[in-house]
Amino acid sequence: MNFKSFNFHPKVAAGVEAAAYKTPTPIQVQAIPPILENRDVMGLAQTGTGKTAAFVLPILNRLIEKRSAGVRALIMAPTRELAEQIHQAIESLGRKTHLRSATVYGGVSINPQIQKLKRADIVVACPGRLLDHIGRRTIDLSRLEVLVVDEADMMFDMGFFPDIRRILKHLPAKRQTLLFSATMPAEIHRLAEDILRNPTTVQVGVTAPADTVRHALYPVAQHLKTALLLKLLRETTFESVLVFTRTKHRAKSLGRKLEAAGYRSASLQGNLSQGRRQAAMDGFRDGTYQILVATDIAARGIDVTQVSHVINYDIPSTPDAYIHRIGRTGRATRSGEAFTLVTGEDRDMVRAINKTIGAPIERRTLPDFDYDVAPAPKQKNGAPRPGGRQTQKGKPAPAQNKRARKGAFAWPGAGGRKSAGRRGMQPA
Ligand code: AMP
Repeated sequence: MNFKSFNFHPKVAAGVEAAAYKTPTPIQVQAIPPILENRDVMGLAQTGTGKTAAFVLPILNRLIEKRSAGVRALIMAPTRELAEQIHQAIESLGRKTHLRSATVYGGVSINPQIQKLKRADIVVACPGRLLDHIGRRTIDLSRLEVLVVDEADMMFDMGFFPDIRRILKHLPAKRQTLLFSATMPAEIHRLAEDILRNPTTVQVGVTAPADTVRHALYPVAQHLKTALLLKLLRETTFESVLVFTRTKHRAKSLGRKLEAAGYRSASLQGNLSQGRRQAAMDGFRDGTYQILVATDIAARGIDVTQVSHVINYDIPSTPDAYIHRIGRTGRATRSGEAFTLVTGEDRDMVRAINKTIGAPIERRTLPDFDYDVAPAPKQKNGAPRPGGRQTQKGKPAPAQNKRARKGAFAWPGAGGRKSAGRRGMQPA
């Protein structure tokens, strides 16, 4: 199949050609025809599948075939950075159409947005600032024809659903609606039922990991994960590392522990303000941070081509999520490594991932790591001390040690930073 079969307007086809897209991706094959037929679509796809072009191209086609003034398409995205990515895709794919796209998000001055909104055909917006414009009457949505809610599960995770429902009240009821989400929890299902009319559902999974990535599993007890991670960081040559945790709380606390251990690290989770999120992402991209700790959802949309290592501090909950996470390393010609810390409880998931990949992932142990350290005793409130502490085998850390009391950790041979191996990643 090629793009000709969609019969795009010559000016849209020219955009496809300029972008050098030769073959439509599976989500494009499935989603473009129903969108062109003016159907509502529920798209289950992650970033990296080509889903932006899957909705941008038919929208451009619709708007150019029958030109008229006003904001005719609204695309809602959870973060400024995703909004910018979509805007860039519109600018690049629509360069010959002369349709105008404007972005609307917080954290920047509102006046330039107001000016651009006056002439925009397509608006790419984060919900908070869009509501602001609606309240100020600086956006007219009465001529809207297409609404796209992108990354709906991330929107939900970031608490945007009440805002989205408020925005919906200001949109014409007669419109085409497209909803994209990587996962389909009950909340997304409810939103889909409320806003989509007789939708076509399209779905793509991620099936094969980038073959430039080398994988390894590091079996370890739950309470020794942080210590093992630190040892791993010291013994491997890293450029920049993306570490995944299962929960927001763990991302935050692990980010802090890495910082306490001397690494330039930041954490990214759904609760961060737009400004702090941006600062963490920018810092990771420009090398200010060597390590970024994130949950799956918070890391969505990161296109960090220089990531040398992905470390799954917690194993992901599905094989697809595994492949998606490690797809962030080894992009283009670079080769990357993906390490996954696994506990006894992860056996079934490891089996499922091996099956998806088609080969068992190599298991590794670190030679001088003490795997026999007992968990730290519980604190009075019943919570175990985070990270445990490795001193002598099985013995808890002495109570008078300040670092231990604060929940910091040490590991055999760690000594001081000066003694770290030459190859290892040096704390900042
Ligand atoms: P997305 O999933 O929308 O973030 O797209 C991921 C990347 O794939 C972007 O860099 C797109 O420019 C690129 N892309 C989208 N569609 C195609 C295609 N049909 N052929 C080649 N690259 C594509």
